[in-house]
Amino acid sequence: MGMFCCASGCNNRYGKVPGVSFYRIPTNPVRRQQWVSAIKREGWQPTRHTRLCSAHFVSGVKSDNPLAPNYIPSIFSYISNSHKRKLESRVDTDKQHSETTKKKGARIGNYRNCNTGNDASACKDRDSSNEKTNTAKGLGDLHATKKSVNVSCLTDENYVTIQQVMMKLRTLQERCRHLEDVIQDLKLDENVIRSNPEMLPFYTGLASFDELSKVYEIISPCITESSTFLLSKFQKLLLTLMKLKLNLKFQDLAYRFRVSKTTAANVFHATLYILYMRLSFLIVWPEREELLKMMPIDFQELFKDRVAAVTDCFELSLERSSRKEYAQSCSNEENHPTLKFLIGITPQGTISFVSKAWGGQVSDEMCTESCGILNNLLPGDVLVSNRGIRCAELKASVDGKPQLVRASIDSSPQLFRLRMHMKNVIGHMRKKYAILQGTLPINLSTVKQGYNVRTLDMIVFICAALTNMTPGVVKLE
Ligand SMILES: [Zn+2]
Repeated sequence: MGMFCCASGCNNRYGKVPGVSFYRIPTNPVRRQQWVSAIKREGWQPTRHTRLCSAHFVSGVKSDNPLAPNYIPSIFSYISNSHKRKLESRVDTDKQHSETTKKKGARIGNYRNCNTGNDASACKDRDSSNEKTNTAKGLGDLHATKKSVNVSCLTDENYVTIQQVMMKLRTLQERCRHLEDVIQDLKLDENVIRSNPEMLPFYTGLASFDELSKVYEIISPCITESSTFLLSKFQKLLLTLMKLKLNLKFQDLAYRFRVSKTTAANVFHATLYILYMRLSFLIVWPEREELLKMMPIDFQELFKDRVAAVTDCFELSLERSSRKEYAQSCSNEENHPTLKFLIGITPQGTISFVSKAWGGQVSDEMCTESCGILNNLLPGDVLVSNRGIRCAELKASVDGKPQLVRASIDSSPQLFRLRMHMKNVIGHMRKKYAILQGTLPINLSTVKQGYNVRTLDMIVFICAALTNMTPGVVKLE
């Protein structure tokens, strides 16, 4: 027959609880009486078969040194089972009351399972509590500690108080978990963007998480992981796209991503450069055959077997600066200085060329002849530009310089349709990326130290590349 612990309320049984030892009641009359008093069972005397388990000694082991605290057992609950049941039902009522204010029932369930342990589990917990305390983290520590103190060594009053404290702790734990969830939702990262489909186009301009993942896959090997792990690689991409899409100030981005303004600006420039280098394949001039093949019927009738390239120029205005070097880029001294970009568009609506920035005072013709787009054409090809629907033919170069002469098909209705087409592509891109609207800080028009491309050149190029990622901007028959 198994041997039980003689302490009231303790269900420890010999051989059933690992690490718990069983002691005989001492024979020395003085010490024996001290033990019997400590065990505190009314009208009870131990026999030679009586055993007391080690769970009732401070440090979990008996000592024979009369000066040691564990010379006499001291950890007891002294609670009769009927009284304990009464206390527990009281605690349960309170618990139910507090639970109605909580959302996450499952977590409470877990907590309850841990919390309703009887004396036996309390004794067991004592033995494993060290181990548990080591693995528990944060609030878990408190939880583990609570388990080890739970029922043992308590008087009735203490039992109630501790239960109330536990209840409060449980409420606070719930609140803490809830706040953790809220913080998680506020943190702009991959999970939040993935689980909130409406956020994706708003913050990035991309249509689907797949598109964003593609961009991430392409650039992530080049993004450096910061030693401080302030921002993940994904967050660096997100910050950069948010700047392009919403033209947020760096201070704003700094608050949103909980980094310094300088970090936000540095992350933007570094990621922008990687995007510029890695997404260049998205802006390509198609092969001649391909270009001819995809010319709409309208254009084929108009241009026959000549390639028609469609171009448009747009200007970005910069903040005014007193510095002389920027005065050169002013298209109009009275207003803001501007920079001009030339964009080439295929008849299908794909952006196939993006020039570097030119001073706003440079004419469209000069920009067209000098930006490099003519290198893609052969003599006889036609260039249609949006401004005034001008149409020009490329002539064989005489002195090594390509030359454009005015063509005679300026006023055809097909050209009018082309014009709408161009407006759509550039208008769409500028509407989508707020950074291409409004007035930009003048420092974006310079080459930032450590880079070899002007920031604004990269910005326009990437906005165009990302616009090409979303198909069907313009639908032509
Ligand atoms: Zn015991």
